[in-house]
Amino acid sequence: MAENKRDYYEVLGVDRNASTEEIKKAYRRLARKYHPDFNKDDPHAAEKFKEINEAYEVLSDPQKRERYDRFGHDPGFGPGAGGGFEGFGGFGSIFEDIEDLFGGFGGFGRRRPPGPEQGQHLRYDLEITLEEAYHGGTREIRVTRSETCPDCRGSRARPGTQPETCPVCGGTGQQQVTRETLFGRMINIQTCVHCSGRGTVVKEPCPTCRGQGQVLRDRTLEVKIPPGVADGTRLRIPGGGEAGLRGGPPGDLFVIISVRRHKLFRRERDDLIYELSLPMALAALGTEVDVPTLDGPVAMKVPEGTQPGTVFRLRGKGMPRLHGLGKGDLRVIVKVVVPKRLTPRERELLTELARLSSAEDKGKGFFDRMKDAFGGGH
Ligand SMILES: [Zn+2]
Ligand SMILES: [Zn+2]
Repeated sequence: MAENKRDYYEVLGVDRNASTEEIKKAYRRLARKYHPDFNKDDPHAAEKFKEINEAYEVLSDPQKRERYDRFGHDPGFGPGAGGGFEGFGGFGSIFEDIEDLFGGFGGFGRRRPPGPEQGQHLRYDLEITLEEAYHGGTREIRVTRSETCPDCRGSRARPGTQPETCPVCGGTGQQQVTRETLFGRMINIQTCVHCSGRGTVVKEPCPTCRGQGQVLRDRTLEVKIPPGVADGTRLRIPGGGEAGLRGGPPGDLFVIISVRRHKLFRRERDDLIYELSLPMALAALGTEVDVPTLDGPVAMKVPEGTQPGTVFRLRGKGMPRLHGLGKGDLRVIVKVVVPKRLTPRERELLTELARLSSAEDKGKGFFDRMKDAFGGGH
């Protein structure tokens, strides 16, 4: 068989020193000319087409071409060794070229039916409290998702039976549709309507999934909440999504965390912010207060003369750092509260205080008076 083979260069009509581009060009021209779909009446066209493809398969691949140049037709390797056209390796590259050449016209060779496909990802919105975000832990969630049918294992056929190759498309999942137009015969490839592109048909559908290959299931899943998790964090549960198709893996489940507003704390990254309302007098006098934290109250000293808006930082009393060690801080912002209604006694005391303050204001301190007197007027 090898002996009566024509030289590949001769088949493509190119020089032995032809560039890859020239080889490709020659191949395209010949493939178009001898494509079996254009030469239905010529019994030799298919043979010729096969020969062209075989030559191109070798000469377009630098390694195979080099081997061919050195050893010629070697029955021990390369195309032709297996006999049938469909049998030879490296079919993919040729196939792409053909598709390229005929602009999706195809209609040649065997298209493979669609392969395994990963299932859809699922999303679950989970609201947690700030306390839960602080401590972390687990939460159970309930999701409804498709799973591969346990009885037919996704084959869609009644257990004990098998799906059969689609008689319409021969298992390719695609159909050729020919139309006569003004410009001649148009051939389109479309998804096989008989098998919906699967390439197989089921005579007796699986009763459990009604031939769908998948069933809907309610599942309770455990979600691990990492301490310090932030609002909007996406937790991924691999394989927690919808079942895959044709043996593909399931999708993932994404749990989107939203942290409920807290009545005491605001969060800024890993820090917590707490607004401390302090009566005017205590801000002036200084005091010790209990400040709430997510781990219980802690004592904090407020020094004499604390001004409104002063921020005290309690180190390590904030949120756990999600990607790191330790915790953020608790920032305590002082809000000085001025009384709205006064008891007679309070009024009396405040009036007294006001009188004192204004007297102090008029009679400035010793050094201020000195400055005013000698300070060069500013
Ligand atoms: Zn089933
Ligand atoms: Zn079909």
